[in-house]
Amino acid sequence: MSAFDLIIKNGIIVDGSGAPPFKADIGIVNDTIVKIGNLSVKEAERVIDASNLIVAPGFIDIHNHSDEGIFLVPTADNYVMQGVTTLVIGNCGFSPAPITDENIDVMRVGLKKLLEKFGTIPWRSFPEYMKALGELEKSVNIVTLIGHGTVRSAVLGAGSAQPSERDLKEMIYLARKAMEAGAFGLSTGLIYVPGLFAKTQELIEMAKAIAPFHGIYATHMRNEGVGLLDSIMETITIGISSGVSVEISHLKSTGIPAWGYIKTALSVVENYAERGYDISADAYPYAASSTGLDALLPPWVREGGILKLIERLRDSSILDEISKEFERRGIMEERYLEWNQIVIAYSEVHKELEGRSIEEIAQLWGIDPVKAIARIITEDEGATAIIIHSMSEDDVRRALAHPLVAIGSDGSVRRFGEGKPHPRNYGTFPRVISEYVRKHKLLSLPEAIRKMTSLPARKLRLWDRGLIRPGFKADITIFNYHSIKDTATYESPHNYPRGIEYVIVNGIIVVEEGRHTKAKAGRLLKSTRYR
Ligand SMILES: [Zn+2]
Repeated sequence: MSAFDLIIKNGIIVDGSGAPPFKADIGIVNDTIVKIGNLSVKEAERVIDASNLIVAPGFIDIHNHSDEGIFLVPTADNYVMQGVTTLVIGNCGFSPAPITDENIDVMRVGLKKLLEKFGTIPWRSFPEYMKALGELEKSVNIVTLIGHGTVRSAVLGAGSAQPSERDLKEMIYLARKAMEAGAFGLSTGLIYVPGLFAKTQELIEMAKAIAPFHGIYATHMRNEGVGLLDSIMETITIGISSGVSVEISHLKSTGIPAWGYIKTALSVVENYAERGYDISADAYPYAASSTGLDALLPPWVREGGILKLIERLRDSSILDEISKEFERRGIMEERYLEWNQIVIAYSEVHKELEGRSIEEIAQLWGIDPVKAIARIITEDEGATAIIIHSMSEDDVRRALAHPLVAIGSDGSVRRFGEGKPHPRNYGTFPRVISEYVRKHKLLSLPEAIRKMTSLPARKLRLWDRGLIRPGFKADITIFNYHSIKDTATYESPHNYPRGIEYVIVNGIIVVEEGRHTKAKAGRLLKSTRYR
């Protein structure tokens, strides 16, 4: 009998707290770190020699969209290979449950790939969804949020109607059910249908519903362009009025007229945090964002969901109106984007367009850009993804450097080789270290690791993850500081990073000498904070 199941010896520990690195061995029994110190190798079943390597807590991706992806690729290769051991899904207002007669058509479009693979969506309610996630064998831990957009559409459909008192009660009931089933909070997507139709008061009421559970309110805000500061104030109002902990998702200033706004946004957030409000944010280390192609269109065209949208796009007078609105208010509601800044990341029907800008495509087809996007959305039935090159590198650095900002990829588990997705799906966490710690010295290594581990863990009240400490779960990432590097690019995104040597999830080795072992050691984590 050995004292430990696994010893990691001779490593340089960066423990996730932000404290300076130190040399020590780590002893693990079953799924738990039990000892940190000078350990004899004779005492373990298995020994990893981490000489000259950094030993850190497994990375927690606080902003992830693998709602479908985790079922399609449960080994979560593009995340595990980055050193990520926990994914927080259900973001930007969308969770795959609850499904009702009111939203089933919209959900079928949203969960298309799941339907293609399994023929059916094996849940309706949020508890049933949690059961399916729990039973799924997967390589990473999963944390779920309940999507406000999903809940709203479950009661009201995807239209612009305002909830009656009774509707709101029903929405609150569904959110509470999800929290009781173990969700960690509520997410909103206030640029998407139907979240964009929600008024502030509705969001306050929904946030109040999760307050007794100590859930977080994670928000993709209404405007990340010239309206950024108004959006920050709306978010703070919701936080103060409901008493919930606020997470601003993928904080950015997008579109040239809004560059620099992030400075004020960060100082406002800081100010409220200093006054004792629980508010923080996350960001990814790239100057481009990614979303659905349909998100560029004015809200009135998208009202009712993707099927209605496609119907409207058949009407040439509507296309004219869209063009006029773009001229008047900019593409994507005052984001002031240019067509050459918008690149197709994924198209179901037009693979040849992946990697090309809307400007190029319009030229190629000899039609105007609005007609081009209408055609692509229609033929893809809404499944088109885009990358938008609209941020400034200075703003990205300002957000990343701020102590209240965690690292969140905003990506999802991918099928290897499919489309030209944003490189953040493969490179976010290694890139923060190679680009912003090692190369630009924007952050110290312990601070960067803190932003990937204990900062999100504390936010989520995951009290046994995010630090290397006795009693904590053995989620551990071991990497070479000198060679760690993201290799995914916009041109060639499906590239795993270099320098991640070992990834351990719940005490099980999931990456060994840089290779995925295919071990499915991940768990569905449930919040248990009620009462
Ligand atoms: Zn979002």
